[in-house]
Amino acid sequence: MKVTKNTVVSIDYTLTNDAGDVLDTSQGAQPLVYLHGVGGLIPGMERGLDGSNTGDELKLKIPPAEGYGERRQELIDRVPKKMFQGATDIKPGMQFQARTPQGMQVVKVVAVDDESVTVDANHELAGVTLNFDVKVVDVRPATEEEVAHGHVHGAGGHQH
Ligand code: ZN
Repeated sequence: MKVTKNTVVSIDYTLTNDAGDVLDTSQGAQPLVYLHGVGGLIPGMERGLDGSNTGDELKLKIPPAEGYGERRQELIDRVPKKMFQGATDIKPGMQFQARTPQGMQVVKVVAVDDESVTVDANHELAGVTLNFDVKVVDVRPATEEEVAHGHVHGAGGHQH
């Protein structure tokens, strides 16, 4: 079956950066299942998969603009250490939930000094060209209920 709007698509994928490092993969886990055409995946991925068929193997090279966006300097912020109430021993690499103008977001600590903590709210894949090896494992029509909810039910989807 062909991947079109409102089909439920199962894919196996491996994501590498331009250096060839594997950043993410479904190998050893369940395929990723999503409702196609409603913005559930990054734009470059949905565009690349659109019109493909069960069994197809695709190589998609997705620039940041069609992936997780460019890295934005204004999302890197220095905040007083006292804002991290209850958190002791803050180190670069740690992640926190933070209230931002865009809502709750995960921010990553990139630097710490005596008085302040520098946090980065960019998505960790922002600014990265994404190389996806994708295999279309299964395609089925979405149910009316799935289309109404905008997500997949059952295996690999919402259980409710
Ligand atoms: Zn639902």
